[in-house]
Amino acid sequence: MPALADFPPIFLIVFAAAFGLLFGSFLNVVIHRLPRGESIAFPGSHCPHCGQPIKPRDNVPVLSYLLLLGRSRCCKAPISPRYPLVEAIGGLVAWAVMRAIVLELPAQTSIARALAVFGTYLALALALVAAAFIDLEHMLLPDEITLGGAGLGIATVPLRTDASFRDCLIGAAVGFLIVWVPFVFLYGKLRGRAGMGLGDAKLVMLAGAWFGWFGAVFALLAGAVQATAVMLALLAAGKKLEEPPAVVEERRALLAELEAAHGAEREELERVLADDPLAKEPEPGLAAARLAFGPFIILAILEFMFYGSVIRSELLSDVTLP
Ligand SMILES: [Zn+2]
Repeated sequence: MPALADFPPIFLIVFAAAFGLLFGSFLNVVIHRLPRGESIAFPGSHCPHCGQPIKPRDNVPVLSYLLLLGRSRCCKAPISPRYPLVEAIGGLVAWAVMRAIVLELPAQTSIARALAVFGTYLALALALVAAAFIDLEHMLLPDEITLGGAGLGIATVPLRTDASFRDCLIGAAVGFLIVWVPFVFLYGKLRGRAGMGLGDAKLVMLAGAWFGWFGAVFALLAGAVQATAVMLALLAAGKKLEEPPAVVEERRALLAELEAAHGAEREELERVLADDPLAKEPEPGLAAARLAFGPFIILAILEFMFYGSVIRSELLSDVTLP
């Protein structure tokens, strides 16, 4: 079996970036379809405007968008710049996984193991990027990504870390509880509504499942610092923190459904809506401003993924970890 050292690093990096760009393209499909409950496997890509299938030559990551000058070939509808942006992020993240994680493995690591490590971290990184965009648009973190990602973290402990299953299970529990206890449970008791969503708790749980309790604490704290900085910058720039249009639209659809329902069906719907924080109009004022927190936690998890050893040694220089 050839080892990692038998391959020139530049070859591995180019391979990773190309792979990431292609998966970035698939990521756009996930971001669009997962929150809408559509299948992410079928059918193939089609134009969101007129529904025509998109030809492979018009589906080349980033390049097609530039060549088509940002408009679809079929009906000349403008293509959201989110598409090439997500594709470029896919390539960037894959490059970073190869550079910062795989090429840091011991040189005698077999290429099969190195590729398995690459695939595992890339799957996590790409799923997190998808979750960030979904949360920005819908204020929702899909369980498929948060719980699925936490499960992948636990399942791959022996492949990717010297930590034990026990460390990662404790990390997952710590991650869930440091969000759920103060921000969902206690805040909910005091204010009658949750300060953060259950989705955020599951996301920090994912951080713990991958990187232990320290990774979970970092994800929450660094996420909070970054969210606060962005919120202050937006306010300083005179921007209002309003809900994304998709959330307003989804609430309108839910309420229309409620109006049309009768009897037991209506009672059931009312029960579902009472548990959904997004079913109510936001309260006026800064304290109730709705800012998706998920993307900031995700940014912190990616920072820990790529700079974890530096962060650990900087922050824990006087503390010895178990
Ligand atoms: Zn079209």
